Amino acid sequence: MNSKKIIIALDNDNLKNTIKLIEELKYDSFAFKVGYEFFFNFGLVGYKLINQKNVRIFLDLKLHDIPNTVKNGIQAISKLNPYFTTVHISGGDNMQKITNKTKKEIKILGVSILTSMNSEQTQKYYFNNDINNIVSNFATYAMENKLDGVVCSPKEINIIKKKCADKLIIITPGIRPENYKNNADDQERIMTPKEALEAGADYLVIGRPITESLNPLEALKNINASIK
Ligand code: C5P
Repeated sequence: MNSKKIIIALDNDNLKNTIKLIEELKYDSFAFKVGYEFFFNFGLVGYKLINQKNVRIFLDLKLHDIPNTVKNGIQAISKLNPYFTTVHISGGDNMQKITNKTKKEIKILGVSILTSMNSEQTQKYYFNNDINNIVSNFATYAMENKLDGVVCSPKEINIIKKKCADKLIIITPGIRPENYKNNADDQERIMTPKEALEAGADYLVIGRPITESLNPLEALKNINASIK
């Protein structure tokens, strides 16, 4: 397996800066994650510019629709050839299964429950079920429906490992290096890179601690050193 573990989250609405970051960080990271902000601002033109840099792309569009629509969406995405893309596990069994019929080389990851859902919201929208229960069940469904992996909070790695051992790739955001300080940070349920890998994560999605650092390459190298 590749020893690089960090996926850089490119949440940026400046195409020039994004390309510069990719050029700077590509030799020390596993992949680059682009989501709504990048894709809806720069579309296919922006995507193709990134692709020309010969990097792995995690296209995080979190599909959630009826199976036929998701099938067609994944078919279109497969022409772009990202390394990872995402669907919501809550879209149901058929929606997940149909991705097996359409994908080629792409790894499909399931989003379990958004980490922005606190326990109050979870009880409201998931009918009094607690977060751990939902994550545990959703991971089982993702495995049964043959998704390649899941995206989850680092605090949920243990639950998923228990249910699915090594059958799912585990990718986790919510990662903050030990000495990271940012008073405006909105991530709450966090772990350090080392803690998350020790808990069983396969790859870590990290954005602002690297991309908003005065020296992004140095920040990335420091993180890589901390997990060696
Ligand atoms: O800047 P930061 O390290 O918080 O970036 C984390 C990335 O992971 C962002 O792109 C965010 O949208 C994404 N993400 C997350 N929590 C989830 C799913 C995705 O933070 N549950």
